[in-house]
Amino acid sequence: MQKNIKVLLLALASCFVLTNSTGCSSLAKAQTPSEEEINAESAKAYQEVKAKSKISNRKDWNDMVQRVANRIARASGENFQWEIVLIDNEEPNAWCMPGGKMAVYTGIMPILKTEGALAAVMGHEVAHATRRHGQKGYARAIEEQQTGALIGVATAVGGQILCKTEQCRLLAGIGGAAAGVALTFFNRKFSREDETEADQVGQVLMAKAGYDPAESIVLWERMNAAKGGEAPEWMSTHPSDANRRAKLTQLLPQAQQVYQQSAEKYGKGATIQ
Ligand SMILES: [Zn+2]
Repeated sequence: MQKNIKVLLLALASCFVLTNSTGCSSLAKAQTPSEEEINAESAKAYQEVKAKSKISNRKDWNDMVQRVANRIARASGENFQWEIVLIDNEEPNAWCMPGGKMAVYTGIMPILKTEGALAAVMGHEVAHATRRHGQKGYARAIEEQQTGALIGVATAVGGQILCKTEQCRLLAGIGGAAAGVALTFFNRKFSREDETEADQVGQVLMAKAGYDPAESIVLWERMNAAKGGEAPEWMSTHPSDANRRAKLTQLLPQAQQVYQQSAEKYGKGATIQ
């Protein structure tokens, strides 16, 4: 990475000298990372999360998280290098990084109450990944923070300061592009449109995976009742709760049709105890 930064800075320096040169615009273009590159950096950040987190050894929850993730992944039809881990952390959290690296935190499990509600949360998080919202966020961060090639340096050096969340701070130390991906991902900069889309796609995904999509609406009441501390990504404040619930209710009949056509049906699934 050190070497890359040097090359980047050199190229940037020549850009300042050669204003209007086509070399500068092609340099800017070359910096937007490909999906492959982003997924590779996500995988690197994920390794770091696993290494630095306490992995839960609670068997019944691990089994549930695995089977829900498998079913949602299969329903998505996406050829990712899927992976999921149950992290022992009281924060009510769950996420799916670009490329299909997922985590559920033990803190969210008792609040969810049913396997179906877990499927709703995972459906939403996986939808962010299959719709490439993380990649879009990263590309946007690059555009916003640079007129040149400074993003690599800024994310590597500034990560510690710019981070808003614990995971982000944990990962900023990796440096380089992996830190950049982690920084933008864990600071959760999904747009309102992306959240709406993740709700819709997620509801269909859980139905396709064999879970009663009505759980996606009941989930709101359970999460709201348990509110306090840091809210999970899934409970993003935009669009508003009322809007999201209204939309999910409006879309429910369509998702119910998908559920009816699903080869396997688990209803609300097992109860979480
Ligand atoms: Zn979301």
